[in-house]
Amino acid sequence: MPGSKKKPAAEPKAGNTLADKLGRLGIAREQDLVLHLPLRYEDHTHLCPLAALKPGQAWQIEATIANTEIQYRPRRQLVCLVEDGEAQLVLRFFHFYPSQQKALAPGKRVRAFGDVREGHFGLEIVHPSFQVVEPGTPLPDRLTPVYPTTAGLSQDALRKLVRRALVRDPAYLAETLPPWTRDPRRLWRFDEAVRYLHEPPTDASQSALDERTHPAWTSLKIHRRARARRRAPRLPGDTTLTRALYARLPFTLTRAQQRVIAEIRRDLAKAEPMQRLLQGDVGSGKTVVAALAALQAIESGYQVAFMAPTEILAEQHYRKLAAWLDGLPLKIAWLSGGLPAKTKRQAKAAIESGEAQFAIGTHMLFQDEVTLPRLGLAIVDEQHRFGVAQRLALRQKGIGDAHQLMMSATPIPRTLAMSFYADLDVSVIDEMPPGRTPVATRLVSQRRRSEIVERVRKVCSAGRQVYWVCPLIEESEKLELQTAVALHAELTAKLGGQTPFSGRLSAALAPVGKMGSDPIKVGLLHGRMKPDDKAAVMDGFVRGEIDVLVATTVIEVGVDVPNASMMVIEHAERFGLAQLHQLRGRVGRGAAESVCVLLFEEPMSEAAKARLKVIYENNDGFEIARQDLVIRGPGEFLGARQSGVPLLRFADLERDVRLIESARAAAEELLRREPGAASTHLERWLGGKQEFIKV
Ligand code: ADP
Ligand code: MG
Repeated sequence: MPGSKKKPAAEPKAGNTLADKLGRLGIAREQDLVLHLPLRYEDHTHLCPLAALKPGQAWQIEATIANTEIQYRPRRQLVCLVEDGEAQLVLRFFHFYPSQQKALAPGKRVRAFGDVREGHFGLEIVHPSFQVVEPGTPLPDRLTPVYPTTAGLSQDALRKLVRRALVRDPAYLAETLPPWTRDPRRLWRFDEAVRYLHEPPTDASQSALDERTHPAWTSLKIHRRARARRRAPRLPGDTTLTRALYARLPFTLTRAQQRVIAEIRRDLAKAEPMQRLLQGDVGSGKTVVAALAALQAIESGYQVAFMAPTEILAEQHYRKLAAWLDGLPLKIAWLSGGLPAKTKRQAKAAIESGEAQFAIGTHMLFQDEVTLPRLGLAIVDEQHRFGVAQRLALRQKGIGDAHQLMMSATPIPRTLAMSFYADLDVSVIDEMPPGRTPVATRLVSQRRRSEIVERVRKVCSAGRQVYWVCPLIEESEKLELQTAVALHAELTAKLGGQTPFSGRLSAALAPVGKMGSDPIKVGLLHGRMKPDDKAAVMDGFVRGEIDVLVATTVIEVGVDVPNASMMVIEHAERFGLAQLHQLRGRVGRGAAESVCVLLFEEPMSEAAKARLKVIYENNDGFEIARQDLVIRGPGEFLGARQSGVPLLRFADLERDVRLIESARAAAEELLRREPGAASTHLERWLGGKQEFIKV
């Protein structure tokens, strides 16, 4: 894309066009739809009269709508009563859109499918899939696919899109394997397999399809593997640099860190590109693992790109790594949108000439016409925070032949992560560095806000620092900004008694340690600031010139200031569990006793109460994730809002919570008994997303 000027990197926001929604599923081009494979199938080929329904099984019915209404007890739900002249049935929805309520108008004829169960008032189906039909609409003659989908994209819409892609362009289905490879193994042709999986005939073995043992599945897998075979440079390393870093680290690695480093070392030495996801709770020490991987690549004569999702984080990494690696024989280049043009040009030149082996920056590294001629390893930090567009840019840049290490603090249970991320290998750091005092969590009502302000004053007078996180306002970025500014003014007035601090002034502040009687300095950090203003404020905080940092959730990721021992999260009830956990992880990084105050406003919804209870009672990110899964269902848990992760949301949360749970159990069992087969099993969740997610 030479010459094209990209817009400055905005924080990834989940958009809502059809393309955005498809993007969330990893579908970037029409042909990706062909490989968006069903999760399971439903048999819609015949109807069951209402009087013949039995609970405990899935059925398809067709009936006339007698009544549709929203009920509020015990919780808000849409209840639709249908009848077919002989019997009645209730269709019940706990999650629904106004459009669904409208569609289910009395007098219309509805065709619905789902598990029938015994309700309080007779038989019912919770969250059926349904469509309003004209009487006499023919039934399908093939099994109906159920696809992984995302909020606002119906199964019907997806089915139509997939069907269209299947007929649109034969090139999408072109055969890539020669007959001499196919025949001896009785492999199906690619197009045969794909068509079959999207629309199996009714006599297909559902269990073989569900278990992915059907020849159509096995054939497709082999096709896929053949396509994916790529070569990466071997990076065995000669330990000159890695050993030097070990020697200067001010700490010894935890056992978990050593284990994952060993896994990465082995991967890098192979000619097959590493595709590894490194998971570890916030503060578990992923950066040093990344640094050691980077050095192994560099001492093997290759370049490394290290990408972070925000400028702030990229700069932190740069500083930290520059300090750790100071004096070692390698050159680091830092590339960020906020740099002066000249500096940027120099950095680029150093990278492109190969003079700089280690490039650190935001996704600009892959967007801004930078080429890394000897790229051996690409590291993506907080990879879940990268938006769809950035991931695509990475893919187009063709880092497919480099080894890849992706890091994430989103604590997805390992097996779940594997099922969602296709053939990514997953390493987990499941141990915290020693010497951390656990963060004490306090739930405090807004009414006691003034006490909290006093507490902040005390903490600052003791020479410690405080984060004060602004309320999250999903609906309006503008309102969020206003609130941040107001909060900053309020705290400045109450604590500092001086004019509000802005990033530009940071240079004017003397870089000296805090004296007991100094006024407390309050800084403001939000997503709308210019990159260098942001960096200046962050800098001030890192250096201890700013005592209280008022921030929107831009600080959520990765920032590391060990002297910060208190965090206040305002309107904590509005945040998701993962976000609260991430935020809380910003404190408790030093030896000081740390506290996280969750300010809440009453009244709270049941879900909000449940969330705060979980975060209050748990420190372990994986346990929190598990509970999150239970509270929200897998769709939301892995949803795009939280992260831009192109993970899957299911059509039917209520039902699929069970599905996921049992899949997880099955996957664990399989991993234990037959590690080789596990990847086979896991592919079921993925469809064509793997290419995409690998980025
Ligand atoms: P994260 O996994 O959230 O990215 P970091 O890599 O930022 O965590 O590490 C958090 C802090 O812990 C850093 O200050 C880092 O230097 C420190 N750290 C990492 N590993 C260890 C260790 N084994 N012992 C002590 N401190 C460590
Ligand atoms: Mg980190």
